[in-house]
Amino acid sequence: MSTPLPPPPLPPGSTIGILGGGQLGRMSALAAARLGYRCHIYAPEADSPGMQVAAARTVAPYEDAGALARFAAAVNVVTFEFENVPAATLDALAPLVPCRPGVAALRIGQDRLAEKAFFESSGIPVGPWRAVHSLAELEAGIAALGLPAVLKTTRLGYDGRGQAVLRRPEDAAAAFARLAPHPLILEAFIPFAKEVSAIAARGVDGTVVTFDAVENRHAHHILDLSIAPAQVPPAVAAQARAQVAALATALDLVGVLALEMFLLPDGRLLANEMAPRPHNSGHWTMDACRIGQFEMHVRAVVGLPLPQLGREHDAVMRNLVGPDSYAAWPRLAAEPGVALHLYGKVQGTEGARPGRKLGHATRLLPLGRLAEEADAAALAPL
Ligand code: AMP
Repeated sequence: MSTPLPPPPLPPGSTIGILGGGQLGRMSALAAARLGYRCHIYAPEADSPGMQVAAARTVAPYEDAGALARFAAAVNVVTFEFENVPAATLDALAPLVPCRPGVAALRIGQDRLAEKAFFESSGIPVGPWRAVHSLAELEAGIAALGLPAVLKTTRLGYDGRGQAVLRRPEDAAAAFARLAPHPLILEAFIPFAKEVSAIAARGVDGTVVTFDAVENRHAHHILDLSIAPAQVPPAVAAQARAQVAALATALDLVGVLALEMFLLPDGRLLANEMAPRPHNSGHWTMDACRIGQFEMHVRAVVGLPLPQLGREHDAVMRNLVGPDSYAAWPRLAAEPGVALHLYGKVQGTEGARPGRKLGHATRLLPLGRLAEEADAAALAPL
C-alpha cells in the first residue's frame, strides 16, 4: 500500500490567520511576508506588535463567534502565537478552516497536569509530581515528594507567576490559599545544573526537524539569556533534540514546538513544560540559522518542506526587558556582531514598563567560539 501524498502547500499569496498579536505573531508575519504569504492577525488589542506588520487585522474578543466566522472565511489556514487563546476559539474555527497546530496541542499546553501526564505517556522523563485538589492532597503530596517542593497553578501561569516554593510544612496552607485557580500541581524541587530547551518543527507529512538545544538563564523569573548551543555533553544535546522531536510526533503537531527541560548534575533531562508555538528560547535561530524558527513555523503551517539545516553561528540572545535594557538599543544597533530586534511596543516612553519584553539582541559568534569561553554570559549583548 502506498502512503497517501501530503496535501500540496498553500501557494504564496495565501493568507495565514494568526490568533494573538504579540511579538511571536509579529516575527511569524515578517517571516511569512518574506515567502510571499499574507498574515491576518486576530487579537483583542488594537495596535498590537503583530498587527503593525500584518496585511489584515481583526480586533475582537476571542469569544466573538461572528468575528471568528468572518476571520475563518478570510484566511486559508489558522495558527496561534499565544498559548492562552481559549480552546473554544479553535473549536469554533476548526470546522471552517485548517488549524495548525490543532486544538489538542493547545489544550495540553494550557494545563500543567495534562502536560505532565502527556509527557509521561509519550515516554518523556519528568520529575515527581502530584495533582493537588485539596489541602489534604497537598499535605499527602509533600509527604510523598519531600521538601523543598514547588506548588504551581495548572493554568495561565508563565514567567514564574502562579507558583510558590515550599520549604517548610508550615508554608503549605498559605500557598494553597494564595494560588488560584485550583487544582494545583505539586512538583518535587529539581536541583538542576542547567535549564535547557529544544525546538522542533513538524510538517503536514510528519517530517520533523530540530534546532540545537540551548541553555536558558532567567532573571526575575523572565528569560534573560539563551546560549546556543547549550554547553553540554553531545549525548545530552542529542537527547534534548530527540525528546522534543518525539513529543512533536506524539502530539501529531503541525508547526513549531518548544520543550523546556531541567538538566540534572548526572546528565539526565527532565521535561518541565512545552509550548506548541515559536518560543523565546528560539529567537537566536532567526540570525544564526538560514531558516529560523518563525520561518520553520510558517513553512509547517502552509505545508512547505522543512529542511534540516545546521546552525551557522554560535549565538547568545539577550531579551530586552523593561525600560533599562531597552534604553541600550542605540548602542546595540551600532554593534556589528549583534542582531537587534525591537517589537514596536514603545512609542516615546510609553509601553516600556518593567518586566515587559520589548525586544531582543543576539550576538553572533564563529562556530565553536562558546566552547572556548568559561562562561558564555560574558559574550551576551548589553
Ligand atoms: P515554569 O513556569 O514552570 O517555567 O517555572 C519557572 C522557573 O521556576 C523555571 O524556569 C525554573 O527556574 C523554576 N522551577 C520551576 N519548576 C521547578 C522545579 N520543579 N524545581 C526547581 N525549579 C523549578
